[in-house]
Amino acid sequence: MGGIAVNNPPDGSTHDLAQSDRGNFTSLISEIASSLVDVRPETFDRVLEVILEKVGRFTASDGAYIAQYGAKKQTLPITHLWSNKSATDAGTLGADLAAAHTRAFMGELKRSGLITLGSPHAPSDKLRREQMLLTDAGIPPLLSVPLGVKHRCIGAMGLFMSGAPQAWTEDQISLLKITAHLVTSALHHDRIEEALSNERQLLRTVIDNLPDYIFAKDTGSRFILNNTAHLRLLKASVQEEVYGKTDYDIFPKELADQYFFDEQDVIQSGRPLVNREESVLTEEGRQRWLLTTKVAWRDSDGNPQGIVGMSRDITDRKEMAEEIEKHATLLEQANAELQARNQELDEFTYIASHDLQEPLRKQVAFSDALREDLAAGDLNEVENDLATITSAAKRMQTLVRDLLSLSRSGRQAMDWEEIDLNQCVEMALDALEIRIEQEKAVVTQDTLPTVRADKTLMVQLYQNLIGNAIKFHGAAAPQIRLTVESNAEEHVLGVADNGIGIKPDYWEQIFAPFKRLHGRHEYEGTGIGLAICRKIAERHGGRIWVESAPGDGSYFKFTVPVHPGDSAI
Ligand code: ADP
Repeated sequence: MGGIAVNNPPDGSTHDLAQSDRGNFTSLISEIASSLVDVRPETFDRVLEVILEKVGRFTASDGAYIAQYGAKKQTLPITHLWSNKSATDAGTLGADLAAAHTRAFMGELKRSGLITLGSPHAPSDKLRREQMLLTDAGIPPLLSVPLGVKHRCIGAMGLFMSGAPQAWTEDQISLLKITAHLVTSALHHDRIEEALSNERQLLRTVIDNLPDYIFAKDTGSRFILNNTAHLRLLKASVQEEVYGKTDYDIFPKELADQYFFDEQDVIQSGRPLVNREESVLTEEGRQRWLLTTKVAWRDSDGNPQGIVGMSRDITDRKEMAEEIEKHATLLEQANAELQARNQELDEFTYIASHDLQEPLRKQVAFSDALREDLAAGDLNEVENDLATITSAAKRMQTLVRDLLSLSRSGRQAMDWEEIDLNQCVEMALDALEIRIEQEKAVVTQDTLPTVRADKTLMVQLYQNLIGNAIKFHGAAAPQIRLTVESNAEEHVLGVADNGIGIKPDYWEQIFAPFKRLHGRHEYEGTGIGLAICRKIAERHGGRIWVESAPGDGSYFKFTVPVHPGDSAI
C-alpha cells in the first residue's frame, strides 16, 4: 500500500495518496456501495466480511472489525472480523477487541466521532485502561469510528495494526468513515427489513389463528390477502390460489355484484360497512350466515389501497336463535292453551258448585221428605217425592252429559277431512227428526259447500244451532233457514230462525257455558249448547256470533276458513 504514509507525527495524519491510488480509492468505495445495494438478508454477513477485508487490505491494516450492540445495549460483541494471517486466533482477538469497547470507549467515540489508540500522538487520558487492554493483546494502533444513524449509535467499526505505534493517514480515516457510513445505512435498512418481517410474521400469526375470516382486497376488489380460515372457506389451501381473484370468480353474479358495489362505496367514501349480515353458499351448497365489516385501507398519504374485511360466521348462532324462537312460539302456544284449559277448569268448578248442586240438593231434600211420607203412610206424597227425585237425577244426568260433551269438544283430537256440509246438516236433522215433527218446523237450506273440517263436530254444531232454533220459537211454527256466503278466505254459514230473538246485551254472554236467559220451566236446557258451538268454531279456526232482534228471530253465524291452517287448533 505504497501511497499511505505512516509514522507522520505530530498531527498523526497525512493525505498523500498517489494519483493511481486515488482512483483505486474511489473505485473501492463504489464497489463497497454497490455490494450493499439490495443485499439479501442471508448474504449480508458475508458481504460485510468481504468489505472488512477489502478496507483492511487497502489500508494495509492487520485487521478490521464491526461491533454492534445487542438487545437493550447490554453487550457490544464483535459481530464481524477480518484479520490478516499474522493476526492471532480470531476468537481471542474478537474477545480482546470487545473488552476494549467499554462504556467509556463508546461514550468518547460517540462524542468525538473518532478514536485512535496506540498512535504516537497522545491518547485520551480517559481511555488509558482500554489502551492497556489492547496493548496486552498486542493490538494497537487502533482506529475506530461509530456506526450510527443520526444520534443513535448502534456500534463501532475500526481498523487495527499490530506492532509499533503509528499514525493513521487522513485517507485511511476517510475510507473508514465512508465505509462506516455505507455499512450503517445497510445495517439500518437490514434492521428495518427484519423488524418489518417480524411484524409481518406477527400479524400473520395473529390473523391465521383467528377463527374469523380476514381478508384484504385492492381497489379493484381483487383478493390480495386471506387468512387461513378464509382460505379454507374458499376451499383454497394456499394464498396463491386466491390471490388476484375477485368475488365474481367465486360467487354467483348477484352476490358478487353486491359485494363489489359495497366495497367500492367503502373505498371511495372511506366510510366503513359495519356488521352487515350476509349469506353465502358453501361449495357443498350449505347456506352460511356471516356478519361482515369492511373498512377502507389507505396508505400513509391517505391514498386508497383497497379494503380490509372481517367476517364472523354466525350460522350456529342464527340457527340457535331461530330454534329458540320456534320454542318460544311453541311455549307461547302451550301457555295460551294452558290458560284456556285453566279457564275451562274454573268454569267446571263453578258449574259443579252451582248447577250440579241444585238437583243434588233437591234429591237430598226429597229423600228426607220421602222418608217422612213413607213413615206417615202418605202414598200420594211418596209418589210425588219419587217423581221429583227421578227428575232431579235425570237433570243431573243431562248436566253431566253436556259437561262431558263440552269437555270433549275442546279436547278430542281433530279428525280433519274434506266433508260436505249438506251431509252434516242431513245427519243433524235426522237426530232432531222427532222434535221437528212435534214443532212442525220447516227447514230450508242453501247448497252448502264442502269444507275441510271434523265431521262429528260439524254435525254437533248444526244440531245445537238447529235444536235451539226449534226450541226458542214464538207463537208461529219454527221457520229455519240454513245459509252460506263464501269469499276467498272463509265460508260464513248461518242458521236463521223466526223465534223469540235475543236482546243485544246478551249476544255475547250466551256463548259462555251455563248462561241461560230463561228459567228451566220456560225452556228446557243446560246452557252448554252454545259454549260447545263456540269451541267447535274456534277449533276450526273460525268465529261464531249472533245477530238478532227480540221477537224478530235470531241469525246465528259461524265461519269456516277456506284453508284452515295455523288458525285452527
Ligand atoms: P240451552 O239451549 O241449553 O239453554 P244454549 O247454550 O244452547 O243453552 O243457549 C244459551 C241461551 O241462549 C239459551 O238459554 C237462550 O236463552 C239463548 N238462545 C240460544 N239459541 C237461541 C235462539 N235460537 N233464539 C233465542 N234465544 C236463543
